[in-house]
Amino acid sequence: MCIFCDIVEGKIPSTKVYEDEYVIAIRDLNPQAPVHDLVIPKKHFDNIVDLAAADDGTYSAAVIDAIAEVAKAEGIDEGFRVINNCGADAGQSVMHVHFHVIGGRKFEEKII
Ligand code: AMP
Repeated sequence: MCIFCDIVEGKIPSTKVYEDEYVIAIRDLNPQAPVHDLVIPKKHFDNIVDLAAADDGTYSAAVIDAIAEVAKAEGIDEGFRVINNCGADAGQSVMHVHFHVIGGRKFEEKII
């Protein structure tokens, strides 16, 4: 059972901010900034390493395009952060690859 697969299939409710053939973007349940969305490939990949190995580039490209579309739709395309946690050591808690799109406030120069 994968919570993001269930969200993609509509079995678990979410607030969708973007959708195309390959990707959805939803509002994060526990936002860390005024804008905090998750860009999620509709196909299950465990993490970014799995995505790079198993995808022919279709989903990777769709993710990049979706990130830009989400930033524009949320009005943060002048400045935002994209975060991917890969693996438990990095703090990945949902093992279906996803990209945090975070903005709406100024960030410090330090990444962490
Ligand atoms: P990560 O720790 O990088 O795996 O990020 C997982 C993210 O998914 C966290 O920021 C959670 O707040 C978010 N999350 C978990 N369940 C849901 C859900 N049902 N709807 C929206 N966001 C969720």
